[in-house]
Amino acid sequence: MRILVTGGAGFIGSHYVRTLLAGGYPGPADARVTVLDKLTYSGDPRNLPMGAPELEFVHGDICDTALVRELMPGHDAVVNFAAESHVDRSIDAATEFFRTNVLGTQILLDAALHSRVERVVHVSTDEVYGTISTGSWTEECSLAPNSPYAASKAGSDLVARSYARTHGLDVSVSRCSNNYGPYQHTEKLIPLFTTRLLRGERVPLYGDGRNVREWLHVDDHCRAVHLILTRGRAGEIYNVGGGEELPNTAVVERLLELCGADASAVQRVADRPGHDLRYSLDGTKLREELGFEPRIPFAEGLPATVAWYRENPDRWQRPAASAGAAQ
Ligand code: NAD
Repeated sequence: MRILVTGGAGFIGSHYVRTLLAGGYPGPADARVTVLDKLTYSGDPRNLPMGAPELEFVHGDICDTALVRELMPGHDAVVNFAAESHVDRSIDAATEFFRTNVLGTQILLDAALHSRVERVVHVSTDEVYGTISTGSWTEECSLAPNSPYAASKAGSDLVARSYARTHGLDVSVSRCSNNYGPYQHTEKLIPLFTTRLLRGERVPLYGDGRNVREWLHVDDHCRAVHLILTRGRAGEIYNVGGGEELPNTAVVERLLELCGADASAVQRVADRPGHDLRYSLDGTKLREELGFEPRIPFAEGLPATVAWYRENPDRWQRPAASAGAAQ
Protein backbone atom coordinates (compact mmCIF):
# COMPACT_ATOMS: atom_id res chain seq x y z
CA MET A 1 0.00 0.00 0.00
CA ARG A 2 1.38 3.40 -0.99
CA ILE A 3 0.10 6.33 1.05
CA LEU A 4 0.52 10.04 0.38
CA VAL A 5 0.69 11.87 3.71
CA THR A 6 0.45 15.63 3.45
CA GLY A 7 1.76 17.71 6.34
CA GLY A 8 3.76 14.67 7.42
CA ALA A 9 6.59 16.77 8.88
CA GLY A 10 4.25 18.38 11.44
CA PHE A 11 3.33 17.23 14.91
CA ILE A 12 0.50 14.77 14.19
CA GLY A 13 1.41 13.79 10.62
CA SER A 14 4.95 12.84 11.63
CA HIS A 15 3.68 10.72 14.51
CA TYR A 16 1.45 8.91 12.04
CA VAL A 17 4.31 8.32 9.59
CA ARG A 18 6.79 7.19 12.27
CA THR A 19 4.26 4.74 13.71
CA LEU A 20 3.17 3.42 10.32
CA LEU A 21 6.74 2.82 9.11
CA ALA A 22 7.63 1.19 12.43
CA GLY A 23 4.84 -1.36 11.81
CA GLY A 24 2.67 0.08 14.56
CA TYR A 25 -0.64 -0.47 12.76
CA PRO A 26 -2.31 -3.72 11.71
CA GLY A 27 -2.35 -4.42 8.01
CA PRO A 28 0.09 -5.17 5.21
CA ALA A 29 3.74 -4.86 6.25
CA ASP A 30 4.76 -3.31 2.93
CA ALA A 31 3.41 0.22 3.49
CA ARG A 32 5.31 2.91 1.63
CA VAL A 33 4.82 6.58 2.37
CA THR A 34 5.29 9.76 0.40
CA VAL A 35 5.28 12.84 2.60
CA LEU A 36 4.35 16.10 0.90
CA ASP A 37 5.13 19.02 3.16
CA LYS A 38 5.79 22.70 2.59
CA LEU A 39 7.99 22.87 5.70
CA THR A 40 6.36 26.00 7.06
CA TYR A 41 7.58 27.26 10.45
CA SER A 42 5.74 24.29 12.03
CA GLY A 43 7.12 21.48 9.84
CA ASP A 44 10.46 19.93 10.70
CA PRO A 45 12.16 17.12 8.72
CA ARG A 46 13.86 16.00 11.95
CA ASN A 47 10.41 14.67 12.94
CA LEU A 48 10.71 12.01 10.22
CA PRO A 49 12.94 8.94 9.69
CA MET A 50 14.39 10.61 6.59
CA GLY A 51 16.74 7.79 5.53
CA ALA A 52 14.11 5.05 5.67
CA PRO A 53 13.80 3.25 2.31
CA GLU A 54 9.99 3.15 2.57
CA LEU A 55 9.80 6.95 2.90
CA GLU A 56 9.94 9.50 0.12
CA PHE A 57 9.96 13.12 1.17
CA VAL A 58 8.72 15.82 -1.22
CA HIS A 59 9.19 19.44 -0.22
CA GLY A 60 6.15 21.18 -1.69
CA ASP A 61 2.81 22.89 -1.30
CA ILE A 62 -0.60 21.19 -1.46
CA CYS A 63 -1.78 24.31 -3.31
CA ASP A 64 0.66 23.61 -6.17
CA THR A 65 -1.74 21.96 -8.61
CA ALA A 66 0.92 20.80 -11.07
CA LEU A 67 3.05 19.21 -8.35
CA VAL A 68 0.10 17.51 -6.65
CA ARG A 69 -1.23 16.19 -9.97
CA GLU A 70 2.22 14.84 -10.87
CA LEU A 71 2.76 13.23 -7.47
CA MET A 72 -0.62 11.58 -6.98
CA PRO A 73 -0.62 8.67 -9.53
CA GLY A 74 0.47 5.36 -8.01
CA HIS A 75 -0.79 6.13 -4.53
CA ASP A 76 -3.53 3.95 -3.06
CA ALA A 77 -4.54 6.38 -0.33
CA VAL A 78 -4.13 9.94 0.89
CA VAL A 79 -4.15 11.26 4.47
CA ASN A 80 -4.38 15.03 4.58
CA PHE A 81 -2.80 16.49 7.72
CA ALA A 82 -1.41 19.60 5.96
CA ALA A 83 -2.83 22.78 7.45
CA GLU A 84 -2.14 26.07 9.07
CA SER A 85 -3.04 25.00 12.59
CA HIS A 86 -2.59 27.78 15.14
CA VAL A 87 -5.69 29.80 16.14
CA ASP A 88 -3.73 32.87 17.31
CA ARG A 89 -1.94 33.13 13.97
CA SER A 90 -5.29 32.94 12.17
CA ILE A 91 -6.48 35.93 14.18
CA ASP A 92 -3.39 37.92 13.22
CA ALA A 93 -3.40 36.93 9.51
CA ALA A 94 -6.00 34.57 8.07
CA THR A 95 -5.25 34.45 4.33
CA GLU A 96 -2.77 31.58 4.49
CA PHE A 97 -5.29 29.57 6.53
CA PHE A 98 -7.94 29.80 3.84
CA ARG A 99 -5.39 29.20 1.08
CA THR A 100 -3.86 26.05 2.54
CA ASN A 101 -6.80 24.67 4.47
CA VAL A 102 -9.60 25.25 1.96
CA LEU A 103 -7.99 25.69 -1.47
CA GLY A 104 -5.20 23.20 -0.71
CA THR A 105 -7.73 20.55 0.31
CA GLN A 106 -9.72 21.13 -2.89
CA ILE A 107 -6.59 20.82 -5.06
CA LEU A 108 -5.56 17.64 -3.25
CA LEU A 109 -8.98 15.99 -3.49
CA ASP A 110 -9.26 16.95 -7.13
CA ALA A 111 -5.94 15.29 -7.89
CA ALA A 112 -6.98 12.21 -5.90
CA LEU A 113 -10.15 12.02 -7.97
CA HIS A 114 -8.28 12.35 -11.27
CA SER A 115 -5.79 9.66 -10.27
CA ARG A 116 -8.58 7.36 -9.04
CA VAL A 117 -7.04 7.09 -5.57
CA GLU A 118 -9.03 4.48 -3.66
CA ARG A 119 -9.25 6.08 -0.24
CA VAL A 120 -8.77 9.50 1.36
CA VAL A 121 -8.93 10.72 4.97
CA HIS A 122 -9.17 14.42 5.60
CA VAL A 123 -8.01 15.26 9.14
CA SER A 124 -10.14 17.94 10.77
CA THR A 125 -10.91 19.27 14.22
CA ASP A 126 -13.63 19.61 16.86
CA GLU A 127 -13.22 23.39 16.56
CA VAL A 128 -15.50 23.37 13.49
CA TYR A 129 -18.48 22.89 15.83
CA GLY A 130 -17.84 26.12 17.74
CA THR A 131 -18.38 26.05 21.49
CA ILE A 132 -20.78 24.01 23.66
CA SER A 133 -21.76 24.75 27.27
CA THR A 134 -23.31 21.35 28.13
CA GLY A 135 -23.43 17.96 26.42
CA SER A 136 -21.26 16.84 23.51
CA TRP A 137 -21.29 17.17 19.73
CA THR A 138 -22.29 14.28 17.51
CA GLU A 139 -21.29 14.23 13.85
CA GLU A 140 -24.80 15.51 13.01
CA CYS A 141 -24.31 18.82 14.83
CA SER A 142 -24.14 21.92 12.71
CA LEU A 143 -20.90 23.71 11.96
CA ALA A 144 -20.50 26.97 13.88
CA PRO A 145 -16.78 27.88 13.78
CA ASN A 146 -15.72 30.95 15.70
CA SER A 147 -12.07 31.55 14.75
CA PRO A 148 -10.67 32.02 11.23
CA TYR A 149 -8.74 28.77 11.78
CA ALA A 150 -11.93 26.88 12.64
CA ALA A 151 -13.79 28.51 9.74
CA SER A 152 -11.07 27.42 7.31
CA LYS A 153 -11.19 23.85 8.65
CA ALA A 154 -15.01 23.85 8.40
CA GLY A 155 -14.61 25.00 4.78
CA SER A 156 -12.22 22.13 4.09
CA ASP A 157 -14.69 19.65 5.59
CA LEU A 158 -17.35 20.93 3.21
CA VAL A 159 -14.96 20.58 0.28
CA ALA A 160 -14.50 16.93 1.30
CA ARG A 161 -18.26 16.45 1.57
CA SER A 162 -18.81 17.91 -1.90
CA TYR A 163 -16.19 15.63 -3.47
CA ALA A 164 -17.84 12.61 -1.83
CA ARG A 165 -21.40 13.60 -2.76
CA THR A 166 -20.82 15.01 -6.25
CA HIS A 167 -17.90 12.97 -7.53
CA GLY A 168 -18.17 9.82 -5.40
CA LEU A 169 -14.64 10.26 -4.03
CA ASP A 170 -14.05 7.78 -1.22
CA VAL A 171 -13.17 10.35 1.44
CA SER A 172 -13.89 10.37 5.17
CA VAL A 173 -13.40 13.27 7.57
CA SER A 174 -12.01 12.84 11.08
CA ARG A 175 -12.69 15.52 13.71
CA CYS A 176 -10.44 15.26 16.72
CA SER A 177 -10.12 17.16 19.98
CA ASN A 178 -6.92 18.82 21.29
CA ASN A 179 -3.83 16.66 20.85
CA TYR A 180 -0.73 16.56 23.00
CA GLY A 181 2.48 14.52 22.94
CA PRO A 182 6.12 14.75 21.86
CA TYR A 183 7.33 16.72 18.83
CA GLN A 184 4.60 19.40 19.05
CA HIS A 185 5.58 22.94 18.08
CA THR A 186 6.22 25.13 21.10
CA GLU A 187 3.54 27.63 20.11
CA LYS A 188 0.82 25.27 21.40
CA LEU A 189 -0.29 25.32 25.04
CA ILE A 190 1.33 22.21 26.52
CA PRO A 191 4.77 22.53 24.86
CA LEU A 192 4.80 26.32 25.27
CA PHE A 193 4.09 26.09 28.98
CA THR A 194 6.37 23.09 29.49
CA THR A 195 9.40 24.60 27.77
CA ARG A 196 8.94 27.97 29.45
CA LEU A 197 8.59 26.37 32.90
CA LEU A 198 11.64 24.17 32.28
CA ARG A 199 13.58 27.35 31.46
CA GLY A 200 12.31 29.00 34.67
CA GLU A 201 10.16 31.48 32.72
CA ARG A 202 6.58 32.60 33.35
CA VAL A 203 3.64 31.27 31.34
CA PRO A 204 0.78 33.31 29.80
CA LEU A 205 -2.70 32.02 30.71
CA TYR A 206 -5.60 33.47 28.75
CA GLY A 207 -8.42 35.15 30.73
CA ASP A 208 -9.65 33.26 33.77
CA GLY A 209 -8.37 29.92 32.45
CA ARG A 210 -11.82 28.27 32.71
CA ASN A 211 -11.86 27.24 29.05
CA VAL A 212 -12.39 23.50 28.83
CA ARG A 213 -10.58 21.34 26.26
CA GLU A 214 -10.72 17.60 25.65
CA TRP A 215 -7.15 16.26 25.56
CA LEU A 216 -6.22 13.20 23.53
CA HIS A 217 -2.71 11.80 23.14
CA VAL A 218 -1.39 12.07 19.58
CA ASP A 219 -0.80 8.31 19.50
CA ASP A 220 -4.51 7.68 20.11
CA HIS A 221 -5.48 10.23 17.45
CA CYS A 222 -3.20 8.65 14.85
CA ARG A 223 -4.50 5.16 15.63
CA ALA A 224 -8.02 6.51 15.05
CA VAL A 225 -6.97 8.08 11.73
CA HIS A 226 -5.54 4.74 10.57
CA LEU A 227 -8.70 2.90 11.65
CA ILE A 228 -10.78 5.38 9.67
CA LEU A 229 -8.46 5.06 6.67
CA THR A 230 -8.63 1.27 6.63
CA ARG A 231 -12.16 0.59 7.89
CA GLY A 232 -14.14 3.84 7.78
CA ARG A 233 -17.04 4.38 5.42
CA ALA A 234 -16.88 6.66 2.38
CA GLY A 235 -18.43 10.09 2.82
CA GLU A 236 -18.70 9.74 6.60
CA ILE A 237 -17.50 12.01 9.37
CA TYR A 238 -15.98 10.50 12.52
CA ASN A 239 -15.49 12.40 15.76
CA VAL A 240 -12.30 11.31 17.50
CA GLY A 241 -13.19 11.95 21.12
CA GLY A 242 -12.81 10.05 24.34
CA GLY A 243 -10.08 12.32 25.59
CA GLU A 244 -10.23 13.95 29.01
CA GLU A 245 -12.03 17.25 29.53
CA LEU A 246 -10.09 19.67 31.66
CA PRO A 247 -10.16 23.42 32.26
CA ASN A 248 -6.92 25.12 31.28
CA THR A 249 -6.28 25.93 34.95
CA ALA A 250 -6.12 22.18 35.74
CA VAL A 251 -3.68 21.52 32.87
CA VAL A 252 -1.49 24.38 34.06
CA GLU A 253 -1.54 23.09 37.66
CA ARG A 254 -0.30 19.69 36.50
CA LEU A 255 2.40 21.27 34.37
CA LEU A 256 3.57 23.40 37.30
CA GLU A 257 3.89 20.24 39.42
CA LEU A 258 5.68 18.27 36.69
CA CYS A 259 8.12 21.10 35.98
CA GLY A 260 8.76 21.94 39.65
CA ALA A 261 7.25 25.45 39.50
CA ASP A 262 4.54 27.18 41.52
CA ALA A 263 1.55 29.43 40.82
CA SER A 264 3.72 32.57 40.78
CA ALA A 265 4.93 31.39 37.34
CA VAL A 266 1.46 31.96 35.86
CA GLN A 267 0.82 35.33 34.27
CA ARG A 268 -2.81 36.12 33.38
CA VAL A 269 -3.10 37.77 29.97
CA ALA A 270 -6.06 39.33 28.13
CA ASP A 271 -8.36 36.67 26.71
CA ARG A 272 -8.18 35.66 23.06
CA PRO A 273 -10.96 37.31 20.99
CA GLY A 274 -13.77 34.82 20.27
CA HIS A 275 -12.21 32.31 22.67
CA ASP A 276 -14.42 29.19 22.72
CA LEU A 277 -15.37 28.23 26.27
CA ARG A 278 -15.76 24.48 25.91
CA TYR A 279 -15.24 21.72 23.35
CA SER A 280 -16.70 18.26 23.85
CA LEU A 281 -17.03 15.45 21.32
CA ASP A 282 -19.40 12.49 21.39
CA GLY A 283 -17.20 9.65 20.15
CA THR A 284 -19.93 6.97 20.07
CA LYS A 285 -19.84 6.48 16.29
CA LEU A 286 -16.12 5.72 16.11
CA ARG A 287 -16.33 3.49 19.19
CA GLU A 288 -19.36 1.49 18.01
CA GLU A 289 -18.46 1.27 14.30
CA LEU A 290 -14.71 0.80 14.49
CA GLY A 291 -14.08 -0.17 18.12
CA PHE A 292 -11.91 2.84 18.93
CA GLU A 293 -10.93 3.47 22.55
CA PRO A 294 -8.17 5.81 23.67
CA ARG A 295 -5.34 3.93 25.40
CA ILE A 296 -3.23 6.65 26.98
CA PRO A 297 -4.76 8.37 30.02
CA PHE A 298 -3.80 12.02 30.48
CA ALA A 299 -2.29 11.12 33.88
CA GLU A 300 0.28 8.98 32.04
CA GLY A 301 0.61 10.84 28.76
CA LEU A 302 1.28 14.26 30.26
CA PRO A 303 4.29 13.28 32.44
CA ALA A 304 5.75 11.32 29.51
CA THR A 305 5.31 14.35 27.26
CA VAL A 306 6.99 16.67 29.77
CA ALA A 307 9.81 14.12 30.10
CA TRP A 308 10.31 14.17 26.31
CA TYR A 309 10.71 17.97 26.30
CA ARG A 310 13.04 17.74 29.30
CA GLU A 311 15.18 15.10 27.56
CA ASN A 312 15.22 16.77 24.14
CA PRO A 313 16.11 20.42 24.66
CA ASP A 314 17.76 20.51 21.22
CA ARG A 315 14.29 20.07 19.71
CA TRP A 316 12.74 23.16 21.24
CA GLN A 317 12.14 25.99 18.92
CA ARG A 318 11.73 29.43 20.43
CA PRO A 319 8.10 30.02 21.46
CA ALA A 320 6.04 32.14 19.10
CA ALA A 321 5.95 35.85 19.83
CA SER A 322 2.20 35.82 20.53
CA ALA A 323 1.29 36.24 24.19
CA GLY A 324 -0.95 33.22 24.45
CA ALA A 325 -1.11 29.73 23.13
CA ALA A 326 -3.67 27.39 21.63
CA GLN A 327 -5.95 27.00 24.60
P1 NAD B 1 1.29 21.29 12.58
O1 NAD B 1 1.17 22.76 12.42
O2 NAD B 1 2.22 20.74 13.59
O3 NAD B 1 1.70 20.63 11.18
C1 NAD B 1 1.17 21.07 9.96
C2 NAD B 1 2.10 20.58 8.85
O4 NAD B 1 1.53 20.96 7.59
C3 NAD B 1 3.50 21.18 8.91
O5 NAD B 1 4.47 20.17 8.70
C4 NAD B 1 3.50 22.19 7.76
O6 NAD B 1 4.80 22.40 7.22
C5 NAD B 1 2.55 21.52 6.78
N1 NAD B 1 1.93 22.47 5.84
C6 NAD B 1 1.35 23.66 6.14
N2 NAD B 1 0.90 24.25 5.01
C7 NAD B 1 1.19 23.40 3.99
C8 NAD B 1 0.96 23.44 2.60
N3 NAD B 1 0.35 24.47 2.00
N4 NAD B 1 1.37 22.39 1.84
C9 NAD B 1 2.01 21.32 2.42
N5 NAD B 1 2.26 21.25 3.73
C10 NAD B 1 1.84 22.27 4.51
O7 NAD B 1 -0.19 20.79 12.81
P2 NAD B 1 -0.71 19.49 13.61
O8 NAD B 1 -0.99 19.87 15.00
O9 NAD B 1 0.18 18.35 13.31
O10 NAD B 1 -2.11 19.27 12.89
C11 NAD B 1 -2.25 18.40 11.76
C12 NAD B 1 -3.70 18.38 11.34
O11 NAD B 1 -4.52 17.94 12.43
C13 NAD B 1 -4.25 19.76 10.94
O12 NAD B 1 -5.08 19.58 9.84
C14 NAD B 1 -5.05 20.20 12.14
O13 NAD B 1 -6.09 21.05 11.76
C15 NAD B 1 -5.56 18.88 12.67
N6 NAD B 1 -5.85 18.81 14.12
C16 NAD B 1 -4.92 19.23 15.02
C17 NAD B 1 -5.21 19.12 16.39
C18 NAD B 1 -4.19 19.53 17.43
O14 NAD B 1 -4.51 19.55 18.63
N7 NAD B 1 -2.93 19.83 17.07
C19 NAD B 1 -6.44 18.63 16.81
C20 NAD B 1 -7.38 18.22 15.85
C21 NAD B 1 -7.06 18.32 14.51
